Order: sequence, then C-alpha cells, then structure tokens
Amino acid sequence: MIAKRVYDNILLGRKCIFCGNYHLYRLKDKRLKCRHCHKIYSLKKLRKDLDILYHFYLEISARKTSIALGISYRTVSRKFMEYMGSMKRLTTAKLLLSTTST
Ligand SMILES: [Zn+2]
Repeated sequence: MIAKRVYDNILLGRKCIFCGNYHLYRLKDKRLKCRHCHKIYSLKKLRKDLDILYHFYLEISARKTSIALGISYRTVSRKFMEYMGSMKRLTTAKLLLSTTST
C-alpha cells in the first residue's frame, strides 16, 4: 500500500525520482525540475521506461513489447539489453558478496 502511494506520487510528478523531494516544478517543455537536486526529467519518458521495464519483467519479447507499446523495436531492444546488463551486474555483485562472506 505504501509502495503504491510512493509510485503514484512519482508518476504524478509530485515526488522527485532522484532525491525524493516534493518540491518539483514544471518547465515550459513539460519536463520536471527538482528544486532540491536540480535534476530535470520527463514524466512521459519515465512512464514509457517503466512500461518497457514491466514488459521485460513479465518476460515478454522485445518484438511483442514494441508492438504493444507502440515504441520502435530498436528502442525496446536497447532498453532490454540495458536491463539484462544491470541484472548481470547485480547477480555478479551478489555472487561476490556471498563468496567473500563465507
Ligand atoms: Zn530531486
């Protein structure tokens, strides 16, 4: 429930995705800027990235994801590669931690 609220606050542009601060304002091009950490990001892009990530999590192919979301196959497959790279780094880090702690 709490996680849902955090998610809503971020997706509605109330909370900064970088520092968690609530003081955001909209720029002319509709992107958001944080008063606290001064980072700028697009809510539209964030939503799109989350949609792609969700499809990746459900193990839906890049081709099907691109059709479902109406995003080019190239963009989706590039994102999928990024996520796979992150997962690989995470797994390696976990393995390293488990071998050094035992
Ligand atoms: Zn911030």
